Amino acid sequence: MWERLDLLTELANEADAPSLLSVARSELPRLTEGWRALLAAHEPDEKGNCPECSGRWRQQKSPCSVWRAAYEHLVAGGLAPRPARHLRSAPVTPPVTRTRRAVLRAH
Ligand SMILES: [Zn+2]
Repeated sequence: MWERLDLLTELANEADAPSLLSVARSELPRLTEGWRALLAAHEPDEKGNCPECSGRWRQQKSPCSVWRAAYEHLVAGGLAPRPARHLRSAPVTPPVTRTRRAVLRAH
């Protein structure tokens, strides 16, 4: 898994434009699908808890750490990597399901 990400980073830095274009066309949809699947799993349920991070005896309030990290990366960070200490101070409000995409685009 890490090797695959390393490979993509390497391609982004070193591939020539035509190769990069074809890699982007094939890989970006895969990456966005991955993010969607991850976010869908960690989306707050009707009680405002994360169904994925909640255990049988302990409920994890949303936004959970996965959601916060994803929000920070995709929205607040504008897709740019940022130092981890920003993760804790970022104000995060998980949008509800039906407005998720609209909210992500609005930022
Ligand atoms: Zn979660």
